[in-house]
Amino acid sequence: MRVSIDTHPGGTNPNEDWVAGTSTLAIVLDGLSTAGLNTGCRHGVPWYVSQLGSQLVAALAAPDRTLAAGLAEALERVAAMHPECDLNNPGTPSATVAVLRHRGEDLDHLVLADSPIVIEGPEDYSVITDLRVDAVLPQLRAEVEKHETDTPEHKEALQRFVHAQRQVRNTADGYWVASASPEAAEHALTGTTPLREAQAALVMSDGASRLVTEYGMATWPEVFATLRAGGPRELIDNVRKVEATDPTGRRWPRYKSGDDAAVAFCQW
Ligand SMILES: [Zn+2]
Repeated sequence: MRVSIDTHPGGTNPNEDWVAGTSTLAIVLDGLSTAGLNTGCRHGVPWYVSQLGSQLVAALAAPDRTLAAGLAEALERVAAMHPECDLNNPGTPSATVAVLRHRGEDLDHLVLADSPIVIEGPEDYSVITDLRVDAVLPQLRAEVEKHETDTPEHKEALQRFVHAQRQVRNTADGYWVASASPEAAEHALTGTTPLREAQAALVMSDGASRLVTEYGMATWPEVFATLRAGGPRELIDNVRKVEATDPTGRRWPRYKSGDDAAVAFCQW
């Protein structure tokens, strides 16, 4: 497998996305926003995603290990790296996970929360994503989206939303993300696609997929054409150009003006 990667922060804060490609793996992690609230961890979200990503690559070095088992092991290893932090804090650093693995004649996938994988088949595109996060707290989400991103009302509504999300995160009533417990790995969506049914694949954070899913400014065939012509950087540049036409989220209400974006484009 040949993987081209790129990632770019959405604003002036450190990038909380993480991406890696090897000859058998493409991994994207998207750290969840803390909205400035307490996390109980002195390391921070960029540290968390880089450690989790690295441990995931290590845990999946054994090709016979399932992706979910590898994720569970990586979560355990990262938790053991900062026992001095309060890992029971509901705001402990958390991330979405999307993994694609080339194994023999197959492609295995795992998604946990809303970083999607798109597989380009001979005739159509399969979008693999876990949108359980979108089903919770619709009123608080609507409140955030009512305000433009540069207003104090937006910031306050976002903090209320994130605070409430933390109460249902990694519970049976809410949605699952990578956090401090290996249990979340059992809730990831996994599957396998025969390699012959895939011409190419794209693993990305929602900061990149929103060009299609939220902004409606490109189709998946156009995205794959962009990737073949200009690589992941051109795709991310296209997202930024679209966001620059709507800097405060008037046309496309959102949590921030630009979201961190990470892209891994896979070919064979
Ligand atoms: Zn920590």
